[in-house]
Amino acid sequence: MSRRPSKHTRPARPLLLAENSYSDKQDGRWITRAIAAGRSVKDYICPGCNQRIRSGEAHIVVWPYEPPLGAVSAVEFRRHWHSNCWLRRR
Ligand SMILES: [Zn+2]
Repeated sequence: MSRRPSKHTRPARPLLLAENSYSDKQDGRWITRAIAAGRSVKDYICPGCNQRIRSGEAHIVVWPYEPPLGAVSAVEFRRHWHSNCWLRRR
């Protein structure tokens, strides 16, 4: 009788799991997702410094962990930030 490895003991897929994380700021908890260099196709304006995030530049996307009252979806509140600007935000 051979023992096949259980699928429960296989390592999880860390890249997928690491994609989203959380930040606790003064105004609550935000979900953050890192956008790798070369993965964005648009320019965005960073709310932290009002400067452009050029397309293809690595940055992060954030949205509220809980949608604000009356909002259909937290995804409407998605914002693109320079990684450093987000880290400096309180
Ligand atoms: Zn910025």
